Amino acid sequence: MFEDIPVDVSPMYEGERIRSANMFVELAGPKSIGAELVQVEDNVEDGKIQVIGPELTQMKQGDIFPFGINIQIQGEKLEKELEGVIERRIHELCNYVKGFMHLNQRDQIWCRVSNEALEAGFKLEHLAKSLSILFREEFPIIEKISVTIFTNKEEVESFLEMARDQYTQRDARSRELSDEDVDVFYGCLMCQSFAPSHMCVVTPDRTALCGAINWFDCRAAAKMDPDGPIFEIEKGDVIDAEKGEYSNVNEAIAEHSQGTTDRVYIHSVFEYPHTSCGCFEAVAFYIPELDGIGIVDRDFRGETPLGIPFSAMAGQCSGGKQVEGFTGLSLEYMRSPKFLQADGGYGRVIWMPKAMKDSVMEFMPEEMRDKIPTEEEATSINEIKDFITQHQHPVLDLIKQSETESKKEDIEKETPPETEETEYETIPSIPVMAPELSMPAAGGVKIIFKNAKIYAEKVIIKRK
Ligand code: SF4
Repeated sequence: MFEDIPVDVSPMYEGERIRSANMFVELAGPKSIGAELVQVEDNVEDGKIQVIGPELTQMKQGDIFPFGINIQIQGEKLEKELEGVIERRIHELCNYVKGFMHLNQRDQIWCRVSNEALEAGFKLEHLAKSLSILFREEFPIIEKISVTIFTNKEEVESFLEMARDQYTQRDARSRELSDEDVDVFYGCLMCQSFAPSHMCVVTPDRTALCGAINWFDCRAAAKMDPDGPIFEIEKGDVIDAEKGEYSNVNEAIAEHSQGTTDRVYIHSVFEYPHTSCGCFEAVAFYIPELDGIGIVDRDFRGETPLGIPFSAMAGQCSGGKQVEGFTGLSLEYMRSPKFLQADGGYGRVIWMPKAMKDSVMEFMPEEMRDKIPTEEEATSINEIKDFITQHQHPVLDLIKQSETESKKEDIEKETPPETEETEYETIPSIPVMAPELSMPAAGGVKIIFKNAKIYAEKVIIKRK
């Protein structure tokens, strides 16, 4: 089937990483532009393969090129609503090709070709051909398929514009419903190949954290392939509507995370936040010093106010982990009225990158629009504090409230009991961030923890 393709094509290459030392060229990614799109069309020319722009043989070692993958499909049972889900499989199927690495989705794709693949005679036309074969195999309802790859800058620019327009139309559709309007949510396990305990919960208000799949897409996918990676979850009992906790969602996550997670709050970063695989468009992170939440997206290249960039933060909370105080999310979720509603929504957000803020501005409550600083106004906790104080951010009320409470506690503790040690209960939902913590160990060795997060049910202070 893959006889004309000079490299192996198999699911066993899915986890292959191509580091810069072994990279021939990079396609799309943070230093260039790119997109991928699947469209259901009439009159598709079956088997058509095209590469518009330079082939690998015309590129030089270390080059970075714009890159686009446009797949057109036709079939009697194919619906427009399946486009998003089929498109999401591009990531997985590209990675079946030995020597080709594909990361992310939509207009965030980032690909690399290895030196070995080039030496074996691999070209982009072989990638297109592999995709054509694999998609036909994976989706028997595809009767005709054509694959076009773009590497020419002008062509990628116009393809990107068209693809973004399609994404916007799909996303707008997901705003037609809200969580209360439906009896079923959906689970997606597509990312378990690299995050084995991760399950996305897709609801009308919470578009999948990769941003590529909404509730309507899931409905179409589950109908097409009921035994596939996207499946229905009857909501069951509403345990907490504000936090977004449902009995059957908890059961589903316990079953599909192999028991590593058994509770999820769909609309909160605290206690039991939604788990994060690695494809999220953005991360919400708790800033304990100001009791507020920051959001950073994949496109932001600078450091967050926690002193680490998106990539480092993503590393800390991805892989299917449930890390309290962090949750991966899609930009579309930030357009939902239920966006982190249990935490106060935008009333709790105290920092976000400018470009991201602009893209969701019209969905933010009007009174919050000038109260949330971006990297242009604040890059550190102290600068955020100054900004939110000047702009009367509502999170100040929370800070005042907790200061009043701790003063009350201080008064109560003015006369400490005459005991050898004093115990304090901590607030279980709030982690203490320790940028650097060291402790002596045996043999004159010192152990240093960097960026440690400490959870303690009890703190015991001993008198010497
Ligand atoms: S991020 Fe979630 S919805 Fe998107 S493909 Fe992965 S598991 Fe599915």
